[in-house]
Amino acid sequence: MPAAPPDLPRRYLGVPLWRPRAAFFELTSCEGCQLQILNNEDTLLDFLSFLEVVQFREAMTEKAEDYEIAFVEGAVSRADEEERLRRIRAQAQVLVALGSCAAFGGVNQLRNRWADPALVVREVYGEAPVETALVRPLSAVVPVDLMIFGCPIRKEEVERIVCDLALGKTVTHPAYPVCLECKANENLCLFDLGEPCLGPITRGGCNAWCPNERAGCWGCRGPAEDANVAQLLEIMRRHGFSDEAFRDRLECFGGFASLPARPEGLPA
Ligand code: SF4
Ligand code: SF4
Repeated sequence: MPAAPPDLPRRYLGVPLWRPRAAFFELTSCEGCQLQILNNEDTLLDFLSFLEVVQFREAMTEKAEDYEIAFVEGAVSRADEEERLRRIRAQAQVLVALGSCAAFGGVNQLRNRWADPALVVREVYGEAPVETALVRPLSAVVPVDLMIFGCPIRKEEVERIVCDLALGKTVTHPAYPVCLECKANENLCLFDLGEPCLGPITRGGCNAWCPNERAGCWGCRGPAEDANVAQLLEIMRRHGFSDEAFRDRLECFGGFASLPARPEGLPA
């Protein structure tokens, strides 16, 4: 947590007397996570009363560099982004990876699956001169203090986390899987409806956003604690889904790349 300015006491009777200065940045991304924050009109003003936002390109023209908390959305896919991220890290006391791209590489990291990166660039950009390299999450370049998961992040969750951060409270993430929230919402299990789902192994916190709409989870929040990937592979096979379909889901957002081992028998 950033320190209060030297000439101000940090709290009086438990109430914070100052607002941490925060800046928002985007690297390779769709900027949907930043948009999620601005989309929350009902609570936006209350939310902003916790932070003094000094830089947020989607929301304001002013731009100051003396921030304490940096929220960085997007993955690193160019040399100039790496440089920019290092500068942000040097300034910020707390660096937050905002969303799946920043935390895991997100959908951007799918390009890394191709053995010939030049082929991917040619297919997407043709002969246009474009600088682009393999995709990395923020933590592959600089130390990250906190991750906020999701593609996109969930408005209510990011507000809770930011309030905890601004009040100096411990920030926690659910250890349980999406499956638990799905059951609590009394949804029919998507496997029984003939749809694959990563809900049993994906970190909760989205309130089963996709299964609530009768769509299977794609794992955008990464693995839940003690995720049993091998067991889910068995469940997928039992319901007639191919290993390839399972692998596509597992690799879609990059979160499961951190797991120590792939389930035996899953195609490379
Ligand atoms: S639909 Fe997915 S998240 Fe919901 S209970 Fe079934 S497996 Fe779990
Ligand atoms: S259900 Fe899965 S894919 Fe959908 S928002 Fe939640 S974690 Fe992401």
